[in-house]
Amino acid sequence: MTTAPHDVPPREPTTGASIFAGKGAMATLCSSYAWATTSIGCPDDWPASLRAVAALVLAAPTPMVLLWGGDATQIYNDSYRELMGAKHPTVFGAPVKRSWPEGWHLDWELYTRAWAGESVTVQDAIVSVGRAGDSSDASFTLGYSPARDEHGVIQGVLVTAFETSTLAAAERQARAAVRAKADFLAVMSHELRTPLNAIGGYTELLQLGVRGPVTPEQRGDLDRIRAGQQQLLGVIDDVLAYTKLEAGILHFAVEDVALDELLTGCCALVGHDARQKKLELRRSGSTGGLAVRADGEKVQQVILNLLGNAIKFTDPGGVITISCQEERGERIDVAVSDTGRGIAANDLECVFQPFVQVDAKLTRDQDGTGLGLAISRQMAQRMGGDLTVASEVGTGSRFTLTLPCGRSTHRTLD
Ligand code: ADP
Repeated sequence: MTTAPHDVPPREPTTGASIFAGKGAMATLCSSYAWATTSIGCPDDWPASLRAVAALVLAAPTPMVLLWGGDATQIYNDSYRELMGAKHPTVFGAPVKRSWPEGWHLDWELYTRAWAGESVTVQDAIVSVGRAGDSSDASFTLGYSPARDEHGVIQGVLVTAFETSTLAAAERQARAAVRAKADFLAVMSHELRTPLNAIGGYTELLQLGVRGPVTPEQRGDLDRIRAGQQQLLGVIDDVLAYTKLEAGILHFAVEDVALDELLTGCCALVGHDARQKKLELRRSGSTGGLAVRADGEKVQQVILNLLGNAIKFTDPGGVITISCQEERGERIDVAVSDTGRGIAANDLECVFQPFVQVDAKLTRDQDGTGLGLAISRQMAQRMGGDLTVASEVGTGSRFTLTLPCGRSTHRTLD
């Protein structure tokens, strides 16, 4: 129980007139209103609970309306009045059904739920409001809560309105902008890919000697042209994938994906690069029969990115290991570990931010866009999993892709 501080004099109980003591226009209107003609009668005869709630509504800075009694007589405050347009002042003190014949049925269900004791919230409800002589639609978060008398019996419903129009409009605009960026990049990437594919195609013809013999120097140049072309294609793919993820328009075809097959395919694809850099590529743990519930192509993309990074950031003679572990039949961890340069503790979370490279100097020895891990983590999360890292400078890194378990691809016979 709380007690009043010593220096506050004892107060008289609130009387009918004192509840309208506020300075607002609605408080003034309440004082002179002909309450005797309404079903709730004169303020002097109101129950203490109605006097208290009415005072609270009139003093509140946010839009509120109290619907009191069986016919839901309306008492609203100055902020609410601004939304009423030409309906004010006719509807003040009047039963709600008579005041809003055109829209009352829309609120009826929420009103009856609150009248039955529930507190109901409606997010971003579109409401027709009349402001500055104009009628327009605006969005509000509306709250309906029961208003009880001093015996705990529900006698009315308190409606609060929090306008979300600017917020909702800003969100819509932001979504549209992200979408427009994704559409633009999709067109651009198509335009860039066509000449790049031509560069790749003609380079290959020259490499094959179709246009005549190629000297060793020319072959070296052609290899570099081809590598540059592949790198640019990779950048375009990364930027497009990231933008689509951001816009929420990247499609995921989720199914049961056999891990053994998928990891064997990944190892085959990076085998040549690992051998060239004199790195050992190992598999550990049995993947026989294990399956994840995911989009196979996206999982492959994530694993290839992790393997590609491990190869990039590990010096010759190092070891890269892929291992799998099933956790309680619910999820599967696929880990890619390396014995490379590692990542400092305060850079660990940054590597998942878009466009972040730990060594961001233009003179860095490894290429890349800094998008690979950002894309990989978002993809993992969109498939109900995650991508995490543990690392130590000079010892190596371990990236773990977690995905939900799929249905096993083989069954053992008991
Ligand atoms: P990038 O295209 O630059 O490789 P990523 O998003 O894949 O982009 O990686 C971001 C950064 O994280 C890399 O530039 C590198 O600094 C760091 N990183 C990623 N994988 C490893 C790893 N296996 N070992 C050390 N550093 C790594």
